Amino acid sequence: MKFSTLAQLLLADQDQEIEDANVLDLAYGIENFEFSPYNRPPFDYPSPEMRARLQSLRARLAALKAAKASMRRTKTVKTMTTCDCGHSVTADAVMNTSSGTSCLSCYDRMSR
Ligand SMILES: [Zn+2]
Repeated sequence: MKFSTLAQLLLADQDQEIEDANVLDLAYGIENFEFSPYNRPPFDYPSPEMRARLQSLRARLAALKAAKASMRRTKTVKTMTTCDCGHSVTADAVMNTSSGTSCLSCYDRMSR
């Protein structure tokens, strides 16, 4: 089930499965929505379930964002390698020469 608005998400059955990508799609609404008497029903005076649902969406969104950020950090650290020429390059750019590993720009010099 894919929800295109936060309202649909808040009104859905509690046991409805929501995909991570869908939570991220609606991140802006999840983070900024406030229940208020100025909203249209049923969001003007929400049920406790609805409030709880928004709370849990916020917690889930925060967890997803944290996971994404740490994944990005790990990836950057893991893929950088220092070659024998002294330069740091991504692991897939390391080249093997007769005098050790090198980056692309030192390859000719190191191969001699
Ligand atoms: Zn180099």
